[in-house]
Formats: sequence, C-alpha cells, structure tokens
Amino acid sequence: MFSGLISRCRIPAACAAASPSATPISNAAVCRAGTYRKARRAIAAALERGFRVTTNTTLFEGSDPERAAQFFDDLMELGVEGMMLAPGYAYAKAPDQEHFLRRAGTRSFFRELLAKARGRGWRFNQSPLFLEFLAGSRELPCTPWGNPTYSIFGWQKPCYLIQDGYAASFAELLETTPWERYGPESGNPSCQDCLMHSGFEPSAVEHAFGSLRGLAEMVRALVTGPRVPAATER
Ligand code: SF4
Repeated sequence: MFSGLISRCRIPAACAAASPSATPISNAAVCRAGTYRKARRAIAAALERGFRVTTNTTLFEGSDPERAAQFFDDLMELGVEGMMLAPGYAYAKAPDQEHFLRRAGTRSFFRELLAKARGRGWRFNQSPLFLEFLAGSRELPCTPWGNPTYSIFGWQKPCYLIQDGYAASFAELLETTPWERYGPESGNPSCQDCLMHSGFEPSAVEHAFGSLRGLAEMVRALVTGPRVPAATER
C-alpha cells in the first residue's frame, strides 16, 4: 500500500512522522503492533524511489534516552535527510494530559539524549541553538508568530497550540493578538511547560541572525555540535 501511495505522490520531498514510542517496547502508545516496522518500510520505499525524507519525532513522558538514541541511529542508517525533535507538550486541546513532558523533565531528557550525539553523525533539520535550548544550555523567549497556523477558520491566535480565536489576515493576527500574554515569561499557565519548536525555533533563528555574537554562537554550534550541560550542571 505504501509503495502504491508513494509512486503516485507528486510531492518532491516526503516527510515522515516517526516515533521511538512506536518501536516494539511501547507499541501501546499507538495501540497497534507493527507500526514502527511499517513506517520503516515506507521510509525505505520512499528513499528507494528518490524522495527526500525527513522525520519529525515527538518525545513523550516515559521515553528512554538510550532507545531514542538507537532510533536516531536507525533513521540515519536508513538514509533520512534530517530529523526534527519536539517535546510532547500538554496543550489544552490534547485529550490525554497525562503523558506529556513537563519543562524540567524535558530539559533533563534532552540533556541525556543530546549528550549521546557525539560521533554518531545525527543530522538534525533544525537550529543547533534550539537544541541547546531544549537541553537547557540557553534560554529563549517564545516567538509565537514565527510559525503561524492558517486553516479554513483563518489565522489562529496566538499559535498552533493555543486557540484563542482567529484573524482574517496575517496583518490582523499581528495587530490584534495581545502577544504580551503569551510565552512562559508572561506567566500564562498554558505556556509554562512549552518548549515546542513552533514557538522557540524562530527565536533561535532570530538570535542567530540578529547579532554578530548570535551568528558566532550558531557557527560554533554547527561546527562543534550543540552545547549540552554536564550532568552536574542539572
Ligand atoms: S509558549 Fe509560545 S508556542 Fe508555546 S503555547 Fe505559549 S505561545 Fe504557543
């Protein structure tokens, strides 16, 4: 089935949502045995047909850094072009509020995971400064307008995770959203555990290109890898 779909697909790049939680150890997370095997076969089939494949992995409460590391090794061995990471965030509309990482847990998890990256050749499809933010070696404010969400309802206020109304145009979104009420620093309870790439990756990019110092930090992180605090700094 996947082969048929892929051969009819005209999109030049295929993007696969993949998750270590779909490996046999916790197929329960997706309530279906064999999901990871099928996703892996689909990725291999897409690559064989010359598609560019990137993955987006959401990590939830209970994820094991070592299993996640093995999963990334597997994706690299398969030949995916790049990987994105996101911590599962308990956004208000999510039906299951139990299995999301809280802020401190997210930082601790990513420190342990990214400390394993050295020498493994992982290719991430995101800013290394955002990875440093996930690991807790830098703080960034949220930039919710950096990845706006548009749907049949309009431009979602303020971001893809929170739904506080819609605007008819991007200009209206920018002008009428009370931005000071969002982001962890605002005190908004809905934002306290959020470290999602939709809000913070644009902040990392802005930091990198907003000053010579930021650019130097980005180049350093690209050359030597994201800075990950030692376990004693946790
Ligand atoms: S911190 Fe930013 S991206 Fe996260 S929920 Fe709040 S506004 Fe949205």
